[in-house]
Amino acid sequence: MRAFRAVGGTPRFMVSGTGPYLTDADGREYVDLVCSWGPMILGHAHPEVTAAVQEAVARGTSFGTPGEGEVALAEEIVARIEPVEQVRLVSSGTEATMSAIRLARGFTGRAKVVKFAGCYHGHVDALLAAAGSGVATFGLPDTPGVTGAQAGDTIVLPYNDLEAVRAAFAAQPGEIACVITEASPGNMGVVPPSDGFNAGLKEICAANGALYISDEVMTGFRTSKAGWYGIDGVRPDLMTFGKVMGGGFPAAAFGGRADVMAHLAPAGPVYQAGTLSGNPVATAAGLAQLRLLDDAAYAKIDAVSAELRSLVGEAFTKEGVAHTVSAASNMFSVFFTDQPVRDYEDAKKQEAFRFTAFFHSMLEQGVYLPPSAFESWFVSTSHDERAIERIAAALPAAARAASEATA
Ligand code: PLP
Repeated sequence: MRAFRAVGGTPRFMVSGTGPYLTDADGREYVDLVCSWGPMILGHAHPEVTAAVQEAVARGTSFGTPGEGEVALAEEIVARIEPVEQVRLVSSGTEATMSAIRLARGFTGRAKVVKFAGCYHGHVDALLAAAGSGVATFGLPDTPGVTGAQAGDTIVLPYNDLEAVRAAFAAQPGEIACVITEASPGNMGVVPPSDGFNAGLKEICAANGALYISDEVMTGFRTSKAGWYGIDGVRPDLMTFGKVMGGGFPAAAFGGRADVMAHLAPAGPVYQAGTLSGNPVATAAGLAQLRLLDDAAYAKIDAVSAELRSLVGEAFTKEGVAHTVSAASNMFSVFFTDQPVRDYEDAKKQEAFRFTAFFHSMLEQGVYLPPSAFESWFVSTSHDERAIERIAAALPAAARAASEATA
C-alpha cells in the first residue's frame, strides 16, 4: 500500500511526524489522514507517549521474562473490554489472528474457518483468500505461496449475508471451528455490519458449536473506549487487537473466554509463543497511549471525523461527483458510487479511478490520504482546527479533479 502501486507516482518517504503532521524527505509537510494505518490515535510524537518510551528504553529493551509492563497492559485491556477474560500478548495483528484461529481449531477439534470476502486479517496463509486491504486494492485473486492445503479449509462468504453463513454450516455440519470477521470492516473501505449481522454470527456459531472471533485489530480502542464491542455489545468468544494498543510499536493481543484461553500453552496443549511478546518498550508505549484515551479523547476524535466527513461530502456534492461517505464510528472512507455498499462486490463497483485523481490533488496540496480507495481514513486527537482548515482548503480542487477524471 505504502508503495503507491494503487495510485501511481512516487511514494513519499516520511522523516518525522508531530501531532497531525508528517514531514517528508524533501521537507514538505502533510496533514496525515493515515495515522500509520490506525495506531497514531493521539497524533505523532505525543509527548507523554514519547516520555514513556524513553524511560522504558533506558531500562533495557527486551528481557525475555515476565514483566510488569505486559501485566499492566493486559489489565488495561481486560478492564476495558468485558468479554476478554484472559489475554495473550503478541507482536502483530497477523500473529493475533493466526493464533486465535489455531486456538479455535485446537479448542473445537475442527478444521474449517469461515471468513468474509474483503475482510483482511493480516497475512495469515489461511486467511489471505479474497482478502481486503492490499489484496483488495491490487485485485489479487489469491496469493502465490499459499498452498491448497493452507487455504483449503477456509470458506469465504459474502459480507453482511447471514443466509450464506447458515448455508455453510448446514453444508458442513460439525466441521467449522470458527467464524472470523472484522468487527466492522475497514479493509475494503469502511463497510459497517448491517443491523443484527454480528449478533446473527454469534448466534449461528453458538448453535453450531463454533467460536465467533471478532477481529478488532483496526477498530479496537479506536471506535470507542471498548472498540466495536463498546458499540454493538455482541460478545465474541475470542477477540484480536493490535494497532492502537501498541502506541506505534509492535504490540498486539488476542483474548476472550477463559475456558477457551485455558487451551493455550503452557496451561493447555495449543502452542503459541514469541521472543518479543510483551516487549517492555512496546507495552510502555501502548499503556501510555491507552491511559490517555479517555471519554474526552474519543469525543474529540468523533467530532473531528464528523467534521471531515461533512466537508468531504459537501466538496463532492458541489462538483456533482457520485459518492458515499461511509462511516463506522470515527472510521470512514469514500466510495465513488451513490449505490449502497454492503459487501466487497459492491465496493468493487465504485469508480476507483476517481480516487486516484482525488488522492494526487490532495497530496499536492499537502494532505496525506491512504493511497487506495479501499482503505479507511484515520484521524487523531491532534487534528486541530488548523489541520482541518488545511484539509478543507484542499478539498474543492481535489473534488474537481475527481469529477474530471476518466477511467
Ligand atoms: N486484522 C485487521 C482487521 C487489520 O486491519 C490488520 C492490519 O491492517 C491486521 C489484522 C493485521 O495486523 P498487522 O498488520 O499488525 O499484522
